[in-house]
Amino acid sequence: MPDAVELIRVKRDGGRLTDADIAWLIGAYTNGTIADEQMSALLMAIFFRGLDSAELTAWTDAMISSGERLDLSGLRRPTVDKHSTGGVGDKVSLILAPLVASCGAAVPQLSGRGLGHTGGTLDKLESIPGWRAGLSNAEILQVLADTGCVICAAGDGLAPADRRMYALRDVTGTVESIPLIASSIMSKKIAEGTAALVLDVKVGSGAFMPDINSARRLARTMVELGNAAGVRTSALLTRMDTPLGRAVGNAVEVEESVATLRGEGPADLVAVTLALAEEMLTLAGISADPAAALADGGALAAYRAMIAAQGGDPEAELAVASHREIVTAEAAGWLRSLDARAVGVAAWRLGAGRARKEDPVSATAGVLCLAKPGDEVSAGQPILELRGDDPDRFARARQALTGAIEVGAEPPEPAPPVLERISGVELAG
Ligand code: URA
Repeated sequence: MPDAVELIRVKRDGGRLTDADIAWLIGAYTNGTIADEQMSALLMAIFFRGLDSAELTAWTDAMISSGERLDLSGLRRPTVDKHSTGGVGDKVSLILAPLVASCGAAVPQLSGRGLGHTGGTLDKLESIPGWRAGLSNAEILQVLADTGCVICAAGDGLAPADRRMYALRDVTGTVESIPLIASSIMSKKIAEGTAALVLDVKVGSGAFMPDINSARRLARTMVELGNAAGVRTSALLTRMDTPLGRAVGNAVEVEESVATLRGEGPADLVAVTLALAEEMLTLAGISADPAAALADGGALAAYRAMIAAQGGDPEAELAVASHREIVTAEAAGWLRSLDARAVGVAAWRLGAGRARKEDPVSATAGVLCLAKPGDEVSAGQPILELRGDDPDRFARARQALTGAIEVGAEPPEPAPPVLERISGVELAG
């Protein structure tokens, strides 16, 4: 039997682990033979030494094998999913899943919950009365067959090794490692059973990966892993310097998503959503125009059907915060930047996000961006509206916004929201 200490030493000293070593390590960690302190040491060794391509494939395979793999082959539509690395105001999934479903695909969006300054899709949808995130595998298949899309919590059975390991990485300073992030995300997406996958890798102050080079490396690593596992995978790098759309929070983001499905969405949100939809449809082999599905109400009908199938009332009024405060422009000029991270932290401090995974979130807390970069503003003009039910939270939220709003004499350079596309085909070439 392999020895955990010996394998930790191999990685610590820059050696490589065999497929059998990796399968044993992950299996033994999942069944409790390897202790958290040993896995912590190994994760730190990987953080510094990395994993080569073969090690990474074996690591991801072992994470997938730690649990079940959903079988979506009985669905009569091609399956395609999207994963975002997380951004401020990123409500794209709420619009994209029904949009792509209305074009003929089946979209199985199995998601996690938000942690830190970027919100979670499930937390947003839970502001809809009655809506349920926790579905059995049979219910997931039923909702997908009936409506073409489902957005729900990934069950405990999918990649359980990742669940334990991610919690350990969170408390050992080993989250920010490209092979560990890539294998964590891709093991869950491959286990979900989708045939195709588009990754939305966010770049900028509000993103997990602030600079384009590391975002590109993460995207390439994930695209390679997906294609190697037989999942047609590509990635778009999209800008996350400023919040996407105007709403940041839970209920407020659901409202903006529904407005977008009605054809009244903000330009940046619509552009990113349509670019991802086109990419998903291409990978699914479907020839359809997502802009038409947004305009003709088809996507909105699919959204309503999905919400209702998961117990929610798509017509229900959503709760509104009892307190509001306005942040204004200090000078006249052009709004040059509105920092995504600062706005995300402000929304989080108002109660929209959680610090620990067991914390509750507020449905009503959030921030509305009343102006966006590129707008001309006057001195004293409202730029942000802070919302929440707890007045004691507003002062700390305001502190987060110090320096977040930049007004200047010149308009900013136009900033296209989609920066780059990375496809499996290019990689193979
Ligand atoms: N999201 C994940 O699921 N895993 C990571 O490691 C980072 C983000």
